[in-house]
Amino acid sequence: MKILDLPIVTPSVERATEYAVRYVDSLLPLVKEDPRMIVVMRATATKQNIDAVQLRLAEHQLKGHLVYGEERTIIGVVGASIPPTLREELERFDGVQEAVRITRPYKLTAREFQPKDTVVDVRGVKVGGNACVVIAGPCAVESEEQIMTTALAAREAGASMLRGGAFKPRSSPYTFRGMGEDALKLLAQARDATGLPVVTEVMTPTDVELVARYADLLQIGARNMQNYQLLEEVGRTGMPVLLKRGLSATIEEWLLSAEYVVAQGNPNVILCERGIRTFETATRNTMDLNAVALAKRRSHLPVIADPSHGTGKWYLVPPLALAALGAGADGLIMEIHPDPDRAKSDGGQSLTLENFAALMPRLAGQARLLGRSIV
Ligand code: PEP
Ligand code: MN
Repeated sequence: MKILDLPIVTPSVERATEYAVRYVDSLLPLVKEDPRMIVVMRATATKQNIDAVQLRLAEHQLKGHLVYGEERTIIGVVGASIPPTLREELERFDGVQEAVRITRPYKLTAREFQPKDTVVDVRGVKVGGNACVVIAGPCAVESEEQIMTTALAAREAGASMLRGGAFKPRSSPYTFRGMGEDALKLLAQARDATGLPVVTEVMTPTDVELVARYADLLQIGARNMQNYQLLEEVGRTGMPVLLKRGLSATIEEWLLSAEYVVAQGNPNVILCERGIRTFETATRNTMDLNAVALAKRRSHLPVIADPSHGTGKWYLVPPLALAALGAGADGLIMEIHPDPDRAKSDGGQSLTLENFAALMPRLAGQARLLGRSIV
């Protein structure tokens, strides 16, 4: 087994040397049950050393699953509860190099649970495969003319999905909050005209059924990332879900929210990094590309990036879109508008249709460099 050239399979560990992490990464998928702790034995450990560890585990009503690597053995510890002192206890045993507690609050979404990438099919558009998806459209649906013009231009430029808000979560209650069902009807009309699947946000559990009737991909907005009833409700539809990261959510919280959806038997979740709150005020948010790369490593779910909300400035969208692909994003969602200066929401971060068309070949070039393509 190659140790240094590993696939991206990572447990989240509390404490481990770089070496142990890599080693455990490579062997963990071989542990049959869900281990709570990994005991890494020294290369020189004897059978007696291993038996002694096994005996102590049994005394704690725990089971040890042995996995024999090329260089050494690891023991996956399985059982209901791990005593807090177990790690120190085991590390005193002869032949034990290290005991690593696995803190893995999310399971179904974890890469170690499923090493293979999940590919989400949104009405025939595959998200999470080798090809990167580009979703484009206005922040909000404003009129028939606006959405139809935008949809046709998006398709013409090579986008593979259309976005458009019908129910808008706005920080201020006095700003435009969306056209509701009328907007959903216009999105369906735009899909009929262009063939592009549509993504739109659903804000409350009671609207899920309505939005699901029109949309192909249900967006959970950043402000709703921890609305657990909503997550379960979209989970129950079985439909593809675009889960935006909360403004101040950690990567672990984001994956736990995805877990809520997947736990309903719906594996069709696409994660979306859309910028987080930091001390920086020069941009609307700070695009966290670490999160794109790390979420890809920790989870098998597809990850896309939203450089429009991530930066809040239209002229920062192209560089951050290119960078997000570089960080391993499986696609992009971007706001575009026929007349951003007159947009009812998020005009300042929306690309004109011309600028979007000019960006697409650059994205294709970047994808090619990365050995990928644009859908
Ligand atoms: C949006 O996509 O227009 C939106 C409101 O996004 P977020 O939830 O990321 O702010
Ligand atoms: Mn917006």
